[in-house]
Amino acid sequence: MPLRGILKDELVDSGRAPKMDEKARCQSCGMPIHVGNFGTNASGSMNFEYCNICFQKGAFTDMDMTCANMIKQTTSRMIQELGMNEQEAHELAIEIVPRMKRWRQRF
Ligand SMILES: [Zn+2]
Repeated sequence: MPLRGILKDELVDSGRAPKMDEKARCQSCGMPIHVGNFGTNASGSMNFEYCNICFQKGAFTDMDMTCANMIKQTTSRMIQELGMNEQEAHELAIEIVPRMKRWRQRF
């Protein structure tokens, strides 16, 4: 899918967006995940696909979340947590969020 290549090139070219492995993103919000913010399964074990803001105890924390609203939420989290400016955060969010597993199946 061409989008994937474009995004990767943009990330490298911009030099500002942090380099992040696709596998290390929350497959709901698209934010980077790492030890310390993994979601949790129903059993209490760590879930390596989602972050603890999106996914706790085996379920999404906000079942009514839409892709469009997630883009908005991720944009503000990128600004607050990653220190991006509003424009680059928004551009990155609209590229990344729809490609995450939670949303991808709807397209
Ligand atoms: Zn998340």
